[in-house]
Amino acid sequence: MESSAKPKYRKISDLLVHPPQMVKNVFGSITWKVNTTEKLIYLTFDDGPIPIITDKILTALNLFNAKATFFCVGENVKKYPSIYKEILAEGHSTGNHTFSHLNGLKTDTKTYLENIEKAAEYIDSNLFRPPHGRMKTSQQNEIRKKYKIVLWDVLSLDYNQTISKIDCYYNIKHFSRPGSVIVFHDNIKAETNMFYALTHTLLFFSEAGYRFEALNSSMLKQNEKIPHRRIPIFANLW
Ligand SMILES: [Zn+2]
Repeated sequence: MESSAKPKYRKISDLLVHPPQMVKNVFGSITWKVNTTEKLIYLTFDDGPIPIITDKILTALNLFNAKATFFCVGENVKKYPSIYKEILAEGHSTGNHTFSHLNGLKTDTKTYLENIEKAAEYIDSNLFRPPHGRMKTSQQNEIRKKYKIVLWDVLSLDYNQTISKIDCYYNIKHFSRPGSVIVFHDNIKAETNMFYALTHTLLFFSEAGYRFEALNSSMLKQNEKIPHRRIPIFANLW
């Protein structure tokens, strides 16, 4: 892997795995990666915390002295407060992923914002990631007043059961570079692909001299550009 070379798109689903710059430019107020030339990678885990799987993730991260960011579902934090505390105690950061894992495009803005605030009763963070990577422009405009919105530079597609665990890892290996924000899922559906891809990612990039850090809002410089009104095509691919 050459960190300076631009990774090539190989198939249509790569547009989802690694959103093209053109799409990123349209949504100027969203963080897709961290702007750095240092060998740093930002692992993120969506949808937890849940018993067993979150614990296994924490163990794997610990083995590599890796820190990560967990975009938690409020409902799960309410159910499993001790696992949430464990995430923080191990030096990882957390973000808001709504209380009920709502799809923004199917939810009116008032309900969506209330759901985020309900999650905020359990998750003390000003990082936000919309479930399914989807939200309306009206929602985005409100959320960004209070939160830094984080999407991704590399989506592992670990939840997609038509993709093998090896392809899942190769997606990450192919597209990751300094500052990449990588998405995994802290849920049962993704478990097999996620663990294979996570452990291999930790191994490969550690060997390559990378460190894994947690995101925090102060490192993310948001571009205040007003977002374009249209939802990008890729948002409807999954
Ligand atoms: Zn999610």
